[in-house]
Amino acid sequence: MLRKKTVDQLQVKGKKVLVRCDFNVPLKDGVITDDNRITAALPTIQKLIDEGAKVILCSHMGKPKGEVKPELSLAPVAKRLSELLGKEVVFAKDDTVVGENAKTAADNMQDGDVILLENTRFRKEETKNEENFSKELASLAEIFVNDAFGTSHRAHCSTVGVAAFVKESAVGYLMQKELEFLGNAVENPVRPFVAVLGGSKVSDKINVINRLLEKVDTLIIGGGMAYTFAVAQGGHVGNSLLEEDKVEYAKEMIAKAKEKGVKLLLPVDTVITQEFKNDSPAKTVPTGEIPDGWMGLDIGEATRKLFTEALQGAKTVIWNGPMGVFEFENFAAGTKAVAEAMANLDATTIIGGGDSAAAVNQLGYGARMTHISTGGGASLEFLEGKELPGVAAVQDL
Ligand code: AMP
Repeated sequence: MLRKKTVDQLQVKGKKVLVRCDFNVPLKDGVITDDNRITAALPTIQKLIDEGAKVILCSHMGKPKGEVKPELSLAPVAKRLSELLGKEVVFAKDDTVVGENAKTAADNMQDGDVILLENTRFRKEETKNEENFSKELASLAEIFVNDAFGTSHRAHCSTVGVAAFVKESAVGYLMQKELEFLGNAVENPVRPFVAVLGGSKVSDKINVINRLLEKVDTLIIGGGMAYTFAVAQGGHVGNSLLEEDKVEYAKEMIAKAKEKGVKLLLPVDTVITQEFKNDSPAKTVPTGEIPDGWMGLDIGEATRKLFTEALQGAKTVIWNGPMGVFEFENFAAGTKAVAEAMANLDATTIIGGGDSAAAVNQLGYGARMTHISTGGGASLEFLEGKELPGVAAVQDL
């Protein structure tokens, strides 16, 4: 149960509401190439418009590191938002984010109007959560709504600091949905509960592996991180990704799975090649028998079958991290097999953002998952059991 105030509990008519969104969308030559993050923010914005609030939106974009970088301006987002909402979203262009221009735009708002501030990271204080910029942001509005799940694991002015200087704060619908899906999956899963972890590094997912072993019935590990586990089992992995300083940890996790009665599945075969490129000739070998000069870039066919079978009958599945270098078409089969198996399940299927979300969408399975998280780093920290600062800062119910 989420114990935070939500937009449904606010009286917003005629009030100025500052909404922190995650509009950190990919841009190419000033054109937005994927507007998923913008569409994900619409329910909260539309609700506030319908209730007659004066809606002031803010977000970061990229990493301008406290400098004004025109190519990271949020102007294209205001334009796209106007199209999606079917009403004008005034872009409050202001290099200092909350300067005279932004203040005038906010002062001139009517009920139901929407404005968008400039990239919050044009201010160097933003990522340091410094009080002066938090206060400036708060001075624009009476209410703060945090709907930026993707940055909720960061304590910045626009995600955390600002909440202390407004009268009221709440989480938005997107944040609420993310927390409910991820929270229910981990705390209250319909079983069998299976987690699939992949991606490049064990070190990024140490705490997640440890915590999930307390919760799941089956843990499937693939991708680059699996080679550290293969070495922990006495295997040889050639030139594959390996974190030698994590081999001991992998051994501990294998022992912990046994102790907890969790089925831990690791790749049994691997597609290997000699060069890190798509058209480099490949063959399949047992995972622990990769010759020197060769590296594993995908799980093999027997592993795909093993993982697919392990997913049958699952009622809750969480997936974070691709099974191989899915960006290369010739090494995407393992990631595709897991995506397809999940898409075909009668289960709650959750994709933990980042690369796995990109992979699932790229491979065309996005619409068949229950929930695709908009935050890679944030969903990982949530799965680790950490409190997200951007959520903690919001008023309790
Ligand atoms: P992460 O950000 O840790 O979730 O890792 C995602 C990245 O892991 C993707 O870019 C994949 O290409 C990469 N990856 C997955 N499997 C392998 C592998 N076997 N070797 C090298 N990179 C991999």
